[in-house]
Amino acid sequence: MIKDKSYRQIVFLSGKGGTGKTTFTAAFAKLLKNKIVIDCDVDAANLYLLLKPSGNKESVFIGCKKAAIDLLKCTGCGLCEEVCRFDAIKNFVVDQISCEGCGFCVRVCPDNAISFEPNISGIFFKGKLEDDSVFFHARLNPGEGNSGKLVTEIKKEALTNIDEKTEWILIDGPPGIGCPVNASLAGSDFVVLIAEATLTGLHDLKRLIELLKTFKFRHGIIINKYDLNEEITRAICDLANDNGIEIFGLIAFNPDFVRSLQLGKTIIEHNPDIKTQIEEIWSKIKFEIPTHQI
Ligand code: SF4
Ligand code: SF4
Repeated sequence: MIKDKSYRQIVFLSGKGGTGKTTFTAAFAKLLKNKIVIDCDVDAANLYLLLKPSGNKESVFIGCKKAAIDLLKCTGCGLCEEVCRFDAIKNFVVDQISCEGCGFCVRVCPDNAISFEPNISGIFFKGKLEDDSVFFHARLNPGEGNSGKLVTEIKKEALTNIDEKTEWILIDGPPGIGCPVNASLAGSDFVVLIAEATLTGLHDLKRLIELLKTFKFRHGIIINKYDLNEEITRAICDLANDNGIEIFGLIAFNPDFVRSLQLGKTIIEHNPDIKTQIEEIWSKIKFEIPTHQI
């Protein structure tokens, strides 16, 4: 039987860091009930600082395998160093940060001197928010390059918590347009782009819009700090117009955004006027989110 999907998955993206993406995700997470919140910025998770989940339960994340040479077995032929295209082997020692886990050295070693074991690349956490909804965030170990895989893993785990009450999956996406962003987008119903009125903000927004158009993800824009450079704000509006993208709202620069971060609060807890603006923006976003069937 075809059944209407009970929840909608929304991703917040910005193309670059520092645009206020996490601030807005936190505000919407505070506003909405019956949700699951996932911080997919696994290289620099910070949404938990604002949403303050409790009772965090840890799980290890196994990334790629890593090579290690057993010097008792190694006869010093040098073949492994020769074939490693990542230059991860020097003087019969594998640099665990440079090793990309391709396994080539393991296959060529004539003396079976190289082990190839799964590597703990990070941790992810499941906690509870004050309204009892679940919150996931993760920490990738320094130098690990499996952020896309970790994003997929954390989302998979988070989605097992969907129940009949779940209405929203809110995802704080990673910066950029690379593999972790693609992983955060998988299965999403709508993307909210947080744009900033700066030249780099405009540049990154264009790249992100191209990506979303290519993969046909529906999206809309919030312009943050629009009054910093009204010429660029106009350019963002023109870009949106040309691409048929809705602008949900323009938020002015306000020192209260920084103050609320310093206090570890969401902006809607700190400034009632901005709360009203966020509520108005949400009513527009909600109207745009497609209802579809599974
Ligand atoms: S597994 Fe691949 S990257 Fe790692 S040391 Fe061996 S050849 Fe180099
Ligand atoms: S290929 Fe094997 S035997 Fe040769 S240097 Fe590397 S670890 Fe040692």
